[in-house]
Amino acid sequence: MINSNMAEIISQNWQSAIAAVSEACAAAGRRYEEVTIVGVTKYVAPELAWQLSCAGCKILGENRPQSLWEKYEYFKQQTPDANEPACQWHLIGHLQRNKARRTLPMLSCLESLDSLRLAESVSSLAQDLNIELDVLLEVNITQDASKTGLTPQELQQQLPHFMSLPGLRLAGLMAMATLGANGDAARCEFAAVRQLRDTLSAASGLELSKLSMGMSGDFREAIAEGATQVRLGTLLWDRVITHD
Ligand SMILES: *Cc1c(COP(=O)(O)O)cnc(C)c1O
Repeated sequence: MINSNMAEIISQNWQSAIAAVSEACAAAGRRYEEVTIVGVTKYVAPELAWQLSCAGCKILGENRPQSLWEKYEYFKQQTPDANEPACQWHLIGHLQRNKARRTLPMLSCLESLDSLRLAESVSSLAQDLNIELDVLLEVNITQDASKTGLTPQELQQQLPHFMSLPGLRLAGLMAMATLGANGDAARCEFAAVRQLRDTLSAASGLELSKLSMGMSGDFREAIAEGATQVRLGTLLWDRVITHD
């Protein structure tokens, strides 16, 4: 059960997040409208995710396909008009190819396209489903072996192949800073992602206008380096869940 107090806390957190992102935009000389907040719901049950959407956060991100399915179904039950879904869903974590068919129809954006093999599967499914899906290419900017994503070299080599796949709209890049990186280090990584985008864009003629980078601990640095989407989790669930 969600008590009204919990709903109130979630609403306050959402308002604080808007204020913090606005401030970061102002500090970077950018307009708030240039940055979209993706509310990351992976820490919470569907009921709490629903409260966040009621508070006004209309773009939600999940990192595991099964959790996305569960929340998607829950939201459908809460929303009488199927033509007016309560929110849009982004997948921000790895998509296994055997889960793609069920997942794709639920997505407004696949932010974590991390291999050519997956792109080929998604492309053929998108054609089957007769949809054109927004995707972001996930980049492993530091070529860290423990991270998912395409290395800059792979992206440069494989971009023409990605571009040739029907059913995918290549909208930009997604990246995560190295775990534990301090603000300055994270900012350097985000700058490198933006520069890579500029290079790819110049070489391909694709706009690649979306840059999804920045989380609760480093969204200010990401916004300073041109992020157009920040993925906020922890910040939105303050006082709602306890981390231990
Ligand atoms: C969990 C997660 C986030 C949100 O991180 P917070 O630090 O909780 O804001 C953002 N992006 C991805 C890919 C994630 O898995």
